[in-house]
Amino acid sequence: MRRTMVAGNWKMHGTRASVAELIDGLRELALPGGVDVAVFPPLLHVSQVVDGLKGTSIQVGAQNAAVQSGQGALTGEVAPSQLIDAGCAYVLVGHSERRQLMGESDQMLNRKFAAAQASGLIPVFCVGETLEQRELGKTIEVVSRQLDSIIGELGVDAFASAVIAYEPVWAIGTGLTATPQQAQDVHAAIRAQLAEKNSEVAQGVRLLYGGSVKAANAVELFGMPDIDGGLIGGASLNADEFGAICRAAGN
Ligand code: PEP
Repeated sequence: MRRTMVAGNWKMHGTRASVAELIDGLRELALPGGVDVAVFPPLLHVSQVVDGLKGTSIQVGAQNAAVQSGQGALTGEVAPSQLIDAGCAYVLVGHSERRQLMGESDQMLNRKFAAAQASGLIPVFCVGETLEQRELGKTIEVVSRQLDSIIGELGVDAFASAVIAYEPVWAIGTGLTATPQQAQDVHAAIRAQLAEKNSEVAQGVRLLYGGSVKAANAVELFGMPDIDGGLIGGASLNADEFGAICRAAGN
């Protein structure tokens, strides 16, 4: 039985003061049992959030980590082992903003995924198609290629201790959301692709949907059989809205 998960990606938002307010709001939430909740603040605020959420069930993740697990001469980067030391449990790998805007290649993402796992972080591996790719009917092909890149390099078992987030690029931060059926179709295809190699891994891996999820559309999305929760961007910056999404995942 897969536990549902709701993850909040704060992206490059926040100051120490606004983060403190958000922490206060999160601490007041009545969160449902049976749902793993995690937030992904900017690296700068990870320690503040880890300290601020002590005593709650909310876990903390990072939005990025280096391609090597241990410390070293890599100016400007943060090692997965340092994130573990700081109290992180998860790290995002392959978010479309990093693929597109920071030029992160499949090869680099393979290294980041492996380095994260080597340190004990759980990668949340993001996949998804652009609007153009969807309109050309290439959604499954694109997502499948992104997954294959990890499977080819690290083996399907890499997904035994990872989370996958399907995030159509056209739905991120745009207010457009995939319909529950559109999202379900891709999630089912992801699970089927993994099942071809290892059915146990396919059945166990959590598949989150991301792309303009709000409290208003969360129940329907999370009600689909292969959607195990959500990766939430904008709506995770509001504690009440985020709490409502977490409760939707608990239904
Ligand atoms: C995201 O950035 O992962 C995301 C899903 O953003 P939003 O919810 O704002 O579309």
